[in-house]
This record gives sequence, structure tokens and C-alpha cells, in this order.
Amino acid sequence: MTAHKSSYRSLASLQRDLSRCRACVEAGYPLESLPVRVPGNAQRAYLFGQAPGVVEGEERLPWRGRAGRTLRSWLELEEDEFYGKFYCASVTRCYPGRAPSGRGDRTPTPQEQELCSYWRHWELELLRPRLIVTVGGLALRRLLGLPSLTPCVGERYELEGTPVVPLPHPSGASGWLNDPANRDRLTAAVELVRSELRRLND
Ligand code: SF4
Repeated sequence: MTAHKSSYRSLASLQRDLSRCRACVEAGYPLESLPVRVPGNAQRAYLFGQAPGVVEGEERLPWRGRAGRTLRSWLELEEDEFYGKFYCASVTRCYPGRAPSGRGDRTPTPQEQELCSYWRHWELELLRPRLIVTVGGLALRRLLGLPSLTPCVGERYELEGTPVVPLPHPSGASGWLNDPANRDRLTAAVELVRSELRRLND
């Protein structure tokens, strides 16, 4: 059975338990990977996505596939810089498998999202990030309760005093960036993230 403590005092201890979590499998969900591991625990920014893809599930590392490369190119960050700056987390941490329709990956169910929110709660408690970047609509909904991504991209929010900047999902499956107005929103959002990252270096 998956075990986690009622509270954590260190990220290292949390990461040890998280990397063995099987709570969704025990609840009957057909996950197709073990939890993706986060490299490091000294980052000052928290990146919150939806769920790992197949490549991330195989490598057990976040943002390894094409969407990760797109995200890094938006932010103009090399791999080392990216993983050094961002503690990469997501609404759920295991590859959920393909969607039954065959188009894209399965969206984790509300119960899986809820089971995994335990880890996010303790990560934010222990990491105390100075910047949070959400990636995609589900991450934004789960973190801030905002129902619609588009009007939020290019805006800056706060969560208990920490700045939160929403980004769209960099997946090639999304047609969101075909709209020129959305490309302008993305440019504004990326500039917000980059200026917040510069502030972290001050
Ligand atoms: S998705 Fe989250 S809660 Fe579910 S098994 Fe993976 S790590 Fe555990």
C-alpha cells in the first residue's frame, strides 16, 4: 500500500515517498508509469503542469519530450538552467496513458487529481517558491480555481503572496497558438515569467 506521512519536514523525504506512490493504481486507475521524479530540491520557482507524457513516464523525468523542448524555447532556457530554476511538478505525476478516443493522452480523473494534490500541498509548504508558473488550463484550474485559460495568459496572479504566471500548454496537439491574439498573449506571459526570474536573481 502507498504510504505517506501526515506531514513532511523535508523535501527529500517527501520526494522519497512520492517516487513510490501508487495511490491511483490502488484506487483502480490504469496508470502507465511510476511517478516522475523532480531533479533537485533547491529551486526557487515552481512549475505546475498537467501530467507527464509517455517520454517523461519512461525516463521518470519531467518535460523531456517535445512539449518540454518547446517550453524551454519559449523561456529561452537551456536544459540545465531550466531544471535549476524550476521545481517541476504537475497535477498528477504518473503517465495516465492514451485517451480512449486515441487522440492525445488521457486527462486524469478528478479523483486522481485529488489524490495527487496531497504532494503539491507539501511541496509548496516546504519549497516556499518565490514564483509559480502554471502550464495549461487544468493546472491553472487546480491551483487558482480559474475556469478559463485564454483570458489569464499574459496576466499575473498571486497565491498567498507568491506571484503566479499562467502559460498555455506547449503541446503540439493544441491549436491555441494558431490565433494571432493568443500568440500576443503568450509573448506577454513569457515576458512576465522572464522578468520574475530576473527578480529571483536580484
Ligand atoms: S498520479 Fe500522483 S497520486 Fe496518483 S499514483 Fe501517481 S504520484 Fe500517486
